[in-house]
Amino acid sequence: MLASIFQIQNLEMKIKSVSFVKSSQKWQDCPEPNLPEYAFIGRSNVGKSSLINALMNQKDLAKTSQTPGKTQLINHFLVNEEWYLTDLPGYGYARVSKSQRKDFEKLITNYILNRENLVHLFVLVDIRHLPQKIDLEFIEWCGENQISFSIIFTKSDKMKTQAAAEKSVAEYKKILLETWEELPNIFVTSAEKKLGGEQILDFIEETNKIISAPN
Ligand code: GDP
Repeated sequence: MLASIFQIQNLEMKIKSVSFVKSSQKWQDCPEPNLPEYAFIGRSNVGKSSLINALMNQKDLAKTSQTPGKTQLINHFLVNEEWYLTDLPGYGYARVSKSQRKDFEKLITNYILNRENLVHLFVLVDIRHLPQKIDLEFIEWCGENQISFSIIFTKSDKMKTQAAAEKSVAEYKKILLETWEELPNIFVTSAEKKLGGEQILDFIEETNKIISAPN
């Protein structure tokens, strides 16, 4: 039903190779920053692992639904021998202590602020939910720190109609425009139906071309 706004495309051609590189507990332990890097972040359960797996055309590259409270790790994957895809830990677990939350925030903010090869951050939000405080605060923080980011709406297949999906996105944009003059790039996806991934991969490819072009 949503096919008219989300093009169905075959991602197989684009991803020539993908391999897990390592899990790191802090940004200093991450792989050498010698390739452009694109990171994915969002609340736990937003569908981040499912989206990464769909993008990479893999079944369980990224581990779905990690147990809350477990050691939070930064996972690096090497794609097409050309760029890193980074799976950042999910935020917003309801049942973690204040100190765990602080540690988590530090891990994320240190990574984002210090990872020199980080080109772009994809912030995932569930299309079914109204903008959540924790996401808006995080997006605000990205703005304050001049982080290049996009918003990815996940689970679009859960919306009953195209109009409902569009309304949800429009409401989100309206709220963002209360504090932002310009909207970030927005992608609408479904890992379940493999929708919207092509646009994300195209964006990454285009960005890689721009940054590797001679001045
Ligand atoms: P993560 O915690 O952000 O990595 O989220 P997961 O990828 O583990 O997904 C959380 C739950 O949402 C799982 O039950 C998934 O099956 C479900 N889910 C993820 N993506 C989609 C999607 O595109 N469509 C639907 N219908 N369910 C999804």
